[in-house]
Amino acid sequence: MMKFMYEMPTQVIVGKGCIKEQGKRLKEYGQKAYIVIGRHSAKKNGSLKDVVEALEAQAINYTIFDEIEENPSLETMERAKDKGLAEGVDFIIGIGGGSPIDAAKGIGVMIANPHLVADTLICGESLNSLPIIAVPTTAGTGTEVTQYAIATDHKAQTKKNIGHKVFPKLALLDASYMMDMPADITIGTAVDALSHLVESYLNVRSNLLSDMCVEKGLELWGQCIDSLLSGYFTYEVRENLLMASTLAGMAIANTGTSLPHGMGYALTYHKGIPHGLANGVLYIHYLRAFKEQSKVNKVSRLLGLDSHEALEKILAILCHTSITFTEEELRGYAVEMCSNKAKLQNHPETIDEEGIYQIYAKSLLGK
Ligand code: NAP
Ligand code: FE
Repeated sequence: MMKFMYEMPTQVIVGKGCIKEQGKRLKEYGQKAYIVIGRHSAKKNGSLKDVVEALEAQAINYTIFDEIEENPSLETMERAKDKGLAEGVDFIIGIGGGSPIDAAKGIGVMIANPHLVADTLICGESLNSLPIIAVPTTAGTGTEVTQYAIATDHKAQTKKNIGHKVFPKLALLDASYMMDMPADITIGTAVDALSHLVESYLNVRSNLLSDMCVEKGLELWGQCIDSLLSGYFTYEVRENLLMASTLAGMAIANTGTSLPHGMGYALTYHKGIPHGLANGVLYIHYLRAFKEQSKVNKVSRLLGLDSHEALEKILAILCHTSITFTEEELRGYAVEMCSNKAKLQNHPETIDEEGIYQIYAKSLLGK
């Protein structure tokens, strides 16, 4: 017997040139746009130019905030809120990787609720946001179709979901902006998408529709493996990675992620390991830790691989780090992870602090 809810309120438009073609839709969201981007990439890959031209064609005013850092902090979101409030913006267009799009969501909530500041944005309730339009330029986070926004909380010394449910109103997906992405960012973000697919699949909240997204996402991701190994990416491969990432977002929007995501936050916060890689370096031992391996084995089959060993080989090639860790650090991270009840609850088997430490230690100390 089935019992579940599946929610996907984001309008998704896919295709080369879709921003300019669909520019008219931007008018629905107001008279002044707030473009939120990182420091460099959107100015180089054509995405900012296309958005600006689409806005100008519709005579929509805009202002730009171009200081979002990787793993954006609550403080940066507050600074951007101040500028957006002063400029009287009606809606936000987040362009970039997960960092600017997640920041756009946090900024949107703060502008809609101006009493909120860095210290109070994460407040345990879900408040409204200005409308968000997402233009992803990495194929990894799926944030263009999720309600999540991950912020660096320096006071808590970790990364946290802000907790407000902010699905973008519109996601505009054009793989052209990814053509010049360096191989390391491509691989790291692709591994993030893979980890969303797998953590949604091996999850107490997985259901028929989330699994449907995962199964197609794994098939598409599997078709990109040769390119990820060689570092050569055609438009078709870029588009397949983007679709896999968006499908993964549609899946985790409904199931959430699980252990590797919760465990990876410490590796990013304390050691600066990029998000996708931080999950990926834990993956072989996360998958080996399952007592029930039948659904784990399905993952490699859905990827089009002959065996689980083949998947482990690929993960070992794509995901490694030269950063060193001590046993004591990893014990601390395991304690931290145990306080992340939401991620622990999504894991379909019981695992204790020692089990989590073992995944860290086998992955990062080689024992
Ligand atoms: P990112 O932090 O947004 O960007 C990483 C790097 O890639 C930056 O240097 C960025 O440059 C560059 N970049 C972006 N697009 C590029 C392109 N087309 N070509 C060349 N370089 C490009 O990376 P991300 O992995 O996409 O996002 C990670 C964040 O998303 C983390 O905070 C993570 O926790 C979060 N996340 C959110 C969700 C969710 O559902 N909301 C899910 C998973 C992860 P610039 O800085 O110059 O733009
Ligand atoms: Fe992720």
